[in-house]
Amino acid sequence: YKNNIIRNQSNLLLKEKNNELQLAKEKAEKASKARAEFLSTVSHELRTPLNAINGITHLLLEENPKESQLNYLTSLKFSGNYLLTFINEILEINRIESSTIETENITFNLKQLLGNIQSSLKELASINNNAFTIKVDPNIPDFLIGDPTKLSQIFLNLINNALKFTKNGEVKVSLAVNELNPEFTSIHFEVLDTGIGIPEEKIDAVFDSFSQGSIEINRKYGGTGLGLTIVKKLIDILGGKIKVESKVGKGSAFSFDLSFKIGLDQIHHEKKAEF
Ligand code: ADP
Repeated sequence: YKNNIIRNQSNLLLKEKNNELQLAKEKAEKASKARAEFLSTVSHELRTPLNAINGITHLLLEENPKESQLNYLTSLKFSGNYLLTFINEILEINRIESSTIETENITFNLKQLLGNIQSSLKELASINNNAFTIKVDPNIPDFLIGDPTKLSQIFLNLINNALKFTKNGEVKVSLAVNELNPEFTSIHFEVLDTGIGIPEEKIDAVFDSFSQGSIEINRKYGGTGLGLTIVKKLIDILGGKIKVESKVGKGSAFSFDLSFKIGLDQIHHEKKAEF
């Protein structure tokens, strides 16, 4: 009888503890949701007037301004663009962290995706006089099933950095097959540059939010310190892990592996439709 009382009491205590834990969890989830909503609202509210400021700056720059005005407007354009990038990146991190981001699973043409990336970054490559190449293992199937939007975002961020931190050098993107069978392939992606490199003591922190190089480097190259945070989170979502190797004055290499189901190609689709 005594044992029964003790057992009941301890069950009661356990139940109370579980209830408390559940309440604490719900409270934390509510707080996190409120924070995400707040951040999202503030960012959107900031973006609307900022788009107007940037748009008007752009118009004024096209009206043949005097030299003194040109200086002010160029500075306005730089700050406006910086703020817009910053707000967009905060929104993106917020979206990823609050799990409102979904992973796509659609058939896409890998070569086409890479071609679009190459042409959109061609101008940036020429500004710093960099040779920019993309090499794709011919064994990689053209059509894959996955999330092309996230993959593009990852590439754009990594290649942007590589082109930004390299002058008169080389930026090479390469894709190699790790594993290939009729249904599935694992690909090794690498973005390599011959730029300024990352000091050893900074390398572990490059993926942290707002982590940047020295003050001089920040002043010279600009940026928000959020790009690699986004890249790491996106690669995590897609089931990969990013690695970085770098040497000051020699260059950097960012790499990751991702797996994809193989998609049916267009010809296959058309043939099927004919029958
Ligand atoms: P940022 O907007 O400052 O480029 P990132 O998160 O993309 O922010 O990068 C964080 C920091 O890592 C950069 O400020 C820079 O110091 C360093 N870094 C990133 N990529 C490279 C690279 N390819 N070469 C040299 N340094 C790099």
